[in-house]
Amino acid sequence: MSEHARRIAAAQELMRSQGIEALCISVGSDLPYLTGYRAMALERLTMYVLPAEGEGTIVVPALEAPRVEAEGLPLSVRGWGETEDPIAIVDGYLGDAGSVLIGDETWSRFLVDLQDVNQNRGFAKASDLMALLRIRKSPTEIAKLRAAAFTVDGVVGQMEHVRFSGRTERDIAREITERTRAGGHETIDFWIVASGPNGASPHHDPGDRVIEQGDAVVVDFGGHQDGYASDTTRMFVVGDAPYGFNGAFEILHDAQVAAVDHVKPGVTAESIDAVAREIISDAGYGDLFIHRTGHGIGMDSHEHPYLVDGNEQIVEAGMAFSIEPGIYNPGEWGMRIEDIVVVTDTGVERLNRTDRAYRVVE
Ligand code: ZN
Ligand code: ZN
Ligand code: ZN
Repeated sequence: MSEHARRIAAAQELMRSQGIEALCISVGSDLPYLTGYRAMALERLTMYVLPAEGEGTIVVPALEAPRVEAEGLPLSVRGWGETEDPIAIVDGYLGDAGSVLIGDETWSRFLVDLQDVNQNRGFAKASDLMALLRIRKSPTEIAKLRAAAFTVDGVVGQMEHVRFSGRTERDIAREITERTRAGGHETIDFWIVASGPNGASPHHDPGDRVIEQGDAVVVDFGGHQDGYASDTTRMFVVGDAPYGFNGAFEILHDAQVAAVDHVKPGVTAESIDAVAREIISDAGYGDLFIHRTGHGIGMDSHEHPYLVDGNEQIVEAGMAFSIEPGIYNPGEWGMRIEDIVVVTDTGVERLNRTDRAYRVVE
């Protein structure tokens, strides 16, 4: 049985155990996770209708039907013509199914239309069920995450030898995206280059600010390679670090290392956050650590599990997530260190392997 066929069977088994009669999946990563096919996110409806028992059907615009490679999979493809009503077609495949899960990223207008066409049907979010499947990565998936991480690590290594001062954030960001693409990524999904005071904004958009001597620069970037996401953050400092930076960086470094080392099967997601947060808070920087410690990663750059206070999810082998504490000093500087890690049977594997110290650049 292929990996996709196994995933479809696992989804159906979960559906039966939860009393769900059908699953409807449209755009986003759930569809390629289950079937290998990624729908085009356009105005024409694509929807995979999977009953709890038996074969599913991908309802797809006829002109896109040739893109679907369903060979060997227990599903059929129903192309719909330009004058047909895809909602009626999906409704037909749903039949008398009353309890249906719908993919979170489905456009709301399709859900509204589906609700209108049969008001006896109840829809719930598919994310809870899909997360149960997607949260533990298979060895094939881990190998892809490892390869994606290897590419961005290579770019970090290249950027150590690049001049930062006198160039705009946008120019550095362009160079990073070009190098990442050259390294094998199909897409670059974000490219944060946040220099000087801009570093205090964790999701800063690189702009026209010219990087100068004494700037600390947060470099956080990632994309997709072979369908799997990368995401890493390293710090670059131009010449001498700004006032107060080195003391805080030592704490941040300790916090990130301790949080990574804490990871093993059986600990909770929130405890990983707590390890990093306690070290940062004890040193007096607690108010400046303004986000959760990490997020899961896989086909999407942000997915379950989230490392945040209140998430009692038990960490299990195969889970992959970022560990990225930060300290943000408004008006002055910001800092973050981010690695993707995978939980192993006995502990943790860091997928990003570059030195976590900051790089001094010109
Ligand atoms: Zn972020
Ligand atoms: Zn990141
Ligand atoms: Zn991240």
